[in-house]
Amino acid sequence: MGKCIFCGESAGFLRRAHKECQIKNDREQREREASKQLILSEIEVAGVSKRDLPLLKQKITKMAESHKIDSSILESLVICGWENLVERAFDDGILTEEEESNLTKLKEYFSLSEIQLDRRGVFTKMLKGSVLRDLMNGILPENEKIDRNLPFNFQKGEKAIWVFQDVDYYEQKKRIEYVGGSQGVSIRIAKGLYYRTGSFKGERVETEETIHADTGTLCVTNKHVYFSGVTKGFRIKHDKIVSLQLFSDGIGLQRDLATAKPQSFVTGDGWFIYNLITNATQL
Ligand SMILES: [Zn+2]
Repeated sequence: MGKCIFCGESAGFLRRAHKECQIKNDREQREREASKQLILSEIEVAGVSKRDLPLLKQKITKMAESHKIDSSILESLVICGWENLVERAFDDGILTEEEESNLTKLKEYFSLSEIQLDRRGVFTKMLKGSVLRDLMNGILPENEKIDRNLPFNFQKGEKAIWVFQDVDYYEQKKRIEYVGGSQGVSIRIAKGLYYRTGSFKGERVETEETIHADTGTLCVTNKHVYFSGVTKGFRIKHDKIVSLQLFSDGIGLQRDLATAKPQSFVTGDGWFIYNLITNATQL
């Protein structure tokens, strides 16, 4: 005789569960999933409408209890709701001060740590939004998260705005090749030998090759863009940057020197570094 996995009573020969218990369990599970969605939307509504947070907590705790949602799952739902609120705040443009303050209140009320909120990088995303908003308002952002042990010598009055670690740095190299013709072949000068002009016409082909030059730390300050890797280290003054190219995972940068080769940096988040440099150079 098998025992029912739901109620523990005898379920009958070769049976694992009562049919009714299975149905009841399935229904409860569906209801639990539905109430998780409801909890999420309660958090999101509270986050945008500045609803009473003690009331929110009371409500979602009650919902969790009645659907057997344990406290660790409830906490992960609050985190998920907070993350959704950040994403939503970015959907309609820049993160506003009001949106940021609501997110901070929610974080503090539910005692959520930055580590918890940053497992999917969403806490950092909020900081990025805050930094960009300051820059767009002409304010030099105060970023206390910045590591003070940076491998750069800042000038007087220079302040780090953001530091990117493990940045892949690429340089573009121009290669010239001759295809066809006799370029490269040494021709003995001899009397009576005649080479037709066509022999000299190797076609000049220029190819741009992007090579991975280094990996290191990139820092944007109110004056420069710094990079420091294993073998390469340099800084570029803001007003020497003539163009920026936006990629999904980084930026391309062109300096004003005629000889300067395009440089690119992969930070993982092209949108942010592009806006960061664009606005930092306007300060
Ligand atoms: Zn049963």
